Amino acid sequence: MINIVLFGKPGAGKGTQAMFLKTNFNLVHISTGDLFRKNIKNETTLGKLAKSYMDKGDLVPDKVTIDLLETEVDQNHQVNGFIFDGFPRTKSQAKSLDNFLLKKEMSIKATIALEADDDVLVKRLLMRGETSGRIDDQDETKIRNRFDEYNQKTAPLKSYYDAQRKFHSIDGIGTVEEITFRLKLLIDSLQ
Ligand code: ADP
Repeated sequence: MINIVLFGKPGAGKGTQAMFLKTNFNLVHISTGDLFRKNIKNETTLGKLAKSYMDKGDLVPDKVTIDLLETEVDQNHQVNGFIFDGFPRTKSQAKSLDNFLLKKEMSIKATIALEADDDVLVKRLLMRGETSGRIDDQDETKIRNRFDEYNQKTAPLKSYYDAQRKFHSIDGIGTVEEITFRLKLLIDSLQ
C-alpha cells in the first residue's frame, strides 16, 4: 500500500496534485476540507460546527476532524492506498493517524510538503476566492490567519515525520505539470 500525506500551506496546490496522484497511482483521495465543505453544503450538524471555525480560518477541533477522517478511511476497502490531503494538521492528529493505521496494519509511506512563498499563496487564494465562493479565500486577513495556524500547529509535524524518516519536500512554484513531474519522481524513488 502507498499511503501518502500531502503537506503544504493553504493554496500550495495539494488538491490539484492529489488529483494527479489519485489517477497515476490508483489511490483514494481524502481531503478533510472537502469533507467539511460537503457537510456544510448538506447542512449537517457537523457542517454547522465546522463552518464556525472554517469561515474564520481557524482549524476545526481535533476530535471532530479525527472521527471524520477515520470514518472515511473505514468506508474504503481493498484500496491501493490513500492520499491524505489536509490531514493531519496537528501533532495530535498525526499521532491518532499513526495509531489508527497501525490497528489496521497500515502505515504512512511518505509525507510530502509542497513549498511556496506566502505572498504567492495569498495571490493564488484571492484568485481562487473569486470563483470558488469560499469565504475563507476572499479576505487576506483570514488567509494570513490560516498561515498562522499552519506555522503554529502544522509546521511542527515536519520534525514528527522527520524522526520517522518520512518527511520530504518539493518546490511548489512552477506550472502544475512541473510540480506533478517533481512529485512523480519523488514517489517513484520511494518504491
Ligand atoms: P486549504 O488547504 O486551502 O486551507 P482545506 O480545504 O484543506 O483548504 O481546509 C479548509 C479549512 O477546513 C481549514 O482552514 C480548516 O478550518 C478546516 N480543516 C481542514 N482540514 C482540517 C484538519 N485536518 N484539522 C482541522 N481543521 C481542518
